[in-house]
Amino acid sequence: MQIEDYLLTPGVSHGRSGRALTSLGTVVHYVGNPGSSALANRNWFENGSGGANSSAHYIVGLNGEILRCVPENECAAHAGKSYGAEWTEMSKTNNSRFIGIESCHPGADGKFNEQTTNSLVELVADICLRYKLNPDTDVYRHYDVCGKSCPLYYVNNPVEWTALKTKFKEKLHQLTIAQEAKLDTPPAADDNAPSNWAVESWNWAKQNGVVDGTRPTAAATREECAAILFNFNTLLKKE
Ligand SMILES: [Zn+2]
Repeated sequence: MQIEDYLLTPGVSHGRSGRALTSLGTVVHYVGNPGSSALANRNWFENGSGGANSSAHYIVGLNGEILRCVPENECAAHAGKSYGAEWTEMSKTNNSRFIGIESCHPGADGKFNEQTTNSLVELVADICLRYKLNPDTDVYRHYDVCGKSCPLYYVNNPVEWTALKTKFKEKLHQLTIAQEAKLDTPPAADDNAPSNWAVESWNWAKQNGVVDGTRPTAAATREECAAILFNFNTLLKKE
């Protein structure tokens, strides 16, 4: 997964709040502008979003590109508005709780194409892995947190949203297994590092020219032993 940095300029766009965010989940959106590119939507944020001064942390484009617009540790303005009484209390704090992801779409129905879907799945799973989030309970549609018809296609077709969540879960499962495999692998031995117990003496011998600093754990030949003694003797004479 490749993420390109297109951070919004602090002070220029109100989309950079500067307020600290500790993510408790992530909210998926659709841009609502069929065929528009991720960069065009990013620039729309940069220029004040037509007075709405909205923003999101990430925008996933039609070619699967992922643009980062706001750092994850800073609140973005993507889910703050309430569209129904029942969401009022929760939606007040949405921007202080969630990472926002905008997704581009080719048509007016708001369905994500394959490239956008694949990158969105990678991004959401990666966020879930890093913040220990559960796709079942911590990944929301904009609709779920304040009732807006966003992402439109996945509000109109709940089955498709469920299918998307399944993809998030499958990808997270893969990433978790990969991470565990990595943790199980011992770090590659550094051929030029001495054993822990020998660090002090090895560094002393190296700094004083008694050994040449290579192959710390290899056996020494008789001529190498002679060279070490010779070097040590030279050191004593110097002192
Ligand atoms: Zn939205």
